[in-house]
Amino acid sequence: MPRQELVHTIARLKADRGAIILAHNYQPPEIQDVADRLGDSLDLSRFAATATEKTIIFCGVHFMAETAAILSPDKKVILPDPKAGCPMADMMCAEDLVSVKKLHPGAVVVTYVNSTAEVKAETDICCTSANALAVVNSVPEGKKVIFGPDRYLGAWVAGQTTREMILWQGYCPTHQKIYPDEIDELRKVHAGAVVMVHPEVNPGVAAVADVVLGTGGMLAYVEKSPARTFIVGTEAGMVYRLQKRFPDRTFIPASERALCPNMKKISLEKIAKSLETLAPVITVEPRVADRARTAIRRMIETT
Ligand code: SF4
Repeated sequence: MPRQELVHTIARLKADRGAIILAHNYQPPEIQDVADRLGDSLDLSRFAATATEKTIIFCGVHFMAETAAILSPDKKVILPDPKAGCPMADMMCAEDLVSVKKLHPGAVVVTYVNSTAEVKAETDICCTSANALAVVNSVPEGKKVIFGPDRYLGAWVAGQTTREMILWQGYCPTHQKIYPDEIDELRKVHAGAVVMVHPEVNPGVAAVADVVLGTGGMLAYVEKSPARTFIVGTEAGMVYRLQKRFPDRTFIPASERALCPNMKKISLEKIAKSLETLAPVITVEPRVADRARTAIRRMIETT
């Protein structure tokens, strides 16, 4: 079906079904263009919980749809491709976390929202890349923090807090495709550009950046910055999001290779099919969802 026809079909089915389409900032341009709301994973999940629509088409990866389902137990959350997973979230499993907790009795578990529902259920308090430092600092002095799954976000926080942190050794393969020497080369070509990188990059990349921010933080930073050109060190889909929001500025990806293959699994065809069939629905077992919700709510109350 030609793209324009597909876009019309999606709009018609969305109205028929009383659905809303949410898309993560890393989604492909054509998906961002049909979304009702763009954002980071937590922003979208919180929006889903307050939306009047009962059917949520979540264009992102599995843990994001799970988080939306945890916060909206009364709604149908649909992930157009259920195989869109997150390798970093899969690097931390609940059984291993339980074992590590036993090794450090009394430690507080802080888990990045990029984690499975089962891991969140074994967590004391969740965090995002934007509030990770504030969440860790909310842990009483003297208590150890078990932090996962991202070792680079963890290391970035550990460098700024007095809390003792035990870091899980997970990482995002996509953010590891950004290299400091390529940023140095881009700086030479774009003199005066501001380099913004995500805390999921490795420390060598963070060291050459001007600012380290989550995707929501990047949008807020550009809004206030007098700079005209920005080198963007995160998943390259963010460049389209920024360019659309700030058409008078220039955004350059720090690496054209930083494309998350899972984020790119969502297509217009799959969205149309999901609206037609109202599937696949992402569900979380109520006992797991209740415990995971508590960890997410603690974060929302803390920051
Ligand atoms: S960009 Fe990285 S953290 Fe985000 S979904 Fe892809 S693999 Fe996971």
